[in-house]
Amino acid sequence: MQITPVQAPSHETVLRVHDAEIGLTGFIALHSTHLGPAAGGLRMRPYASEDAALTDALRLSRGMTYKNAAAGLPLGGGKAVIMGDASKKTPEQLVTFARAVQSLEGRYWTAEDMGMSPSDMELMTQETKFVAGLPNGAHASGDPSPITARGIFNSIKTTARHRFGSDDLNGRTVSVQGLGHVGGYLCQYLNEAGAKLIVADIDTDRVQEICALYDAEAATAEDILTAKADIFAPCAIGAILNEASIANLNVEAVCGGANNQLATQEDGGRLHARGILYAPDFVANAGGIINVATEILEVADRAAYVDEKLATLDVTLDAILTRAKQMDCSPDAVATSIVDEMLAAKAA
Ligand code: NAD
Repeated sequence: MQITPVQAPSHETVLRVHDAEIGLTGFIALHSTHLGPAAGGLRMRPYASEDAALTDALRLSRGMTYKNAAAGLPLGGGKAVIMGDASKKTPEQLVTFARAVQSLEGRYWTAEDMGMSPSDMELMTQETKFVAGLPNGAHASGDPSPITARGIFNSIKTTARHRFGSDDLNGRTVSVQGLGHVGGYLCQYLNEAGAKLIVADIDTDRVQEICALYDAEAATAEDILTAKADIFAPCAIGAILNEASIANLNVEAVCGGANNQLATQEDGGRLHARGILYAPDFVANAGGIINVATEILEVADRAAYVDEKLATLDVTLDAILTRAKQMDCSPDAVATSIVDEMLAAKAA
């Protein structure tokens, strides 16, 4: 295996990990360790080129810096990617990649992301101890998505309070895009709170299942982007808030779990210009990393830690939305500048 440093001025450390014999090429990107060891998952998916894989690692690791900081976690931002079809991954690839993680001696903690499972993480423990998301063990934190959904639900209430003057969701309509792990739990919480649901997924069986469970209205994957609702909750893919989709949104607010919802930074401004209140995704969906952090930090009382951090996250979102209103600007710009200030203070 070869581990080669890659020059990336925006990041502290970037490594290219390569082993031709076992068909392994990937990157580990550490954006910032100012607040603590960099933490962020390992993603495996086919990329069109090495450049595309590197760009993804750089972008995602930066996102983790902002998410971890906004959640008040003593963790920095990092992410790793392996190029290839995850259904064809081999134990050799994972164990070899784990050696590269170990070479950073704890400056980076990995966990599952797209294409990885808890058993893959367990395999990696053969070569590194800096891995979370394990299926077993004293501090194993399990599936993060119920906690992620709890955080989004709280954020929807806070967003509703700012947009409508009340956080009572009884009778409010919420459109949900993506009914997977996060979207499914979110629908449950919204239904319990009395919200009316409009739901969409490319998996039509899943749509039927959620409609039956929560008396939801089904929309197609296209129509969910223009459905009339009070709040839109994107819980599927990134970059769905772009110039074209924002122009056609028929909602008063957006708050959901998908990572990187804004296609570009200008799209935060576009939502603001349309009077649509946007809860920054890296704040609303930080419940998952809060859950994973309990494993990395070996927290003794996980439930209490999660409750406390979710409550703080709520206060943070409230402060972001208040400041955005005072400054008449996008909450995303405010959230980003708050984290930038935190990082600058730590670096000083
Ligand atoms: P998942 O794979 O379980 O669910 C995603 C769902 O979205 C699937 O049901 C899929 O069919 C659907 N989907 C894909 N493309 C779609 C489209 N164009 N329109 C409608 N539906 C579509 O994933 P998840 O764990 O629920 O994560 C959802 C999002 O939340 C992702 O962006 C993920 O990065 C983010 N996120 C997840 C967690 C977590 O704890 N799982 C934490 C933070 C952020």
